[in-house]
Amino acid sequence: MEKQTLLYEGKAKKLYQTDEAGVLWVEYLNQATALNGAKKDTVAGKGALNNQITSRIFEKLAAKGINSHFIQQLSESEQLIKEVTMIPLEVVLRNIAAGSFSKRLGIAEGTPLTFPIIEFYFKEDALDDPMINDEHVQVLNIASPAEITELKAMTRAINQALVEMFQEIGIRLVDFKLEFGKTADGTIVLADEISPDTCRLWDAKTNDHLDKDLYRRDLGDIVPVYQEVLRRLEA
Ligand code: 5GP
Repeated sequence: MEKQTLLYEGKAKKLYQTDEAGVLWVEYLNQATALNGAKKDTVAGKGALNNQITSRIFEKLAAKGINSHFIQQLSESEQLIKEVTMIPLEVVLRNIAAGSFSKRLGIAEGTPLTFPIIEFYFKEDALDDPMINDEHVQVLNIASPAEITELKAMTRAINQALVEMFQEIGIRLVDFKLEFGKTADGTIVLADEISPDTCRLWDAKTNDHLDKDLYRRDLGDIVPVYQEVLRRLEA
């Protein structure tokens, strides 16, 4: 497999074409961002950690019958993925109140929710990724009603698998963000990454943050805690 033209450079990843049709080469970067890019730093080791954590999680999800765009890890900071057309949505699922949910609704962080709730955000940097509802998703032609139902069902199934996976390694899955893509035949697949950048992970015993909130809130160094998440996933 050969890495070819650079197709896209995002905040956390570079995406390259390969010599095989339908297969892309992803390089995870050491850049950390928050507040829609307003806070930005280089964090040595972050790209390698997120690549390895995402790879382990996508492998474990596949073993539980949940497929994604992931093909294989290539090196510490690179992986191969299937090419998909990204759906411009951030699908957030919340098990426990935290972050923007707590702020917006005045519900204390750590309050368990009666049932897991799903929120959609329109992935559009220029608009600061606004939260939208199912009808906005339809009117904006992002997804049809049947696809919205499917996205929600997939997100709930992924939540169940992730909650179990993290419970086994002493971590509470507070909330997370997923992105999905469509293959050429229109099949919706899980895409992007699942890592401490995209999930809130709290240590089950201490409630310590094992995620990007350490960076977002200037609470400490993310590298040792991301290393701890990877160590537990690989144990
Ligand atoms: P909140 O809306 O509370 O800020 O985030 C909810 C969950 O989705 C958190 O686990 C957070 O990590 C994830 N999330 C939401 N938006 C983004 C985003 O733009 N980038 C990343 N990496 N994670 C996000």
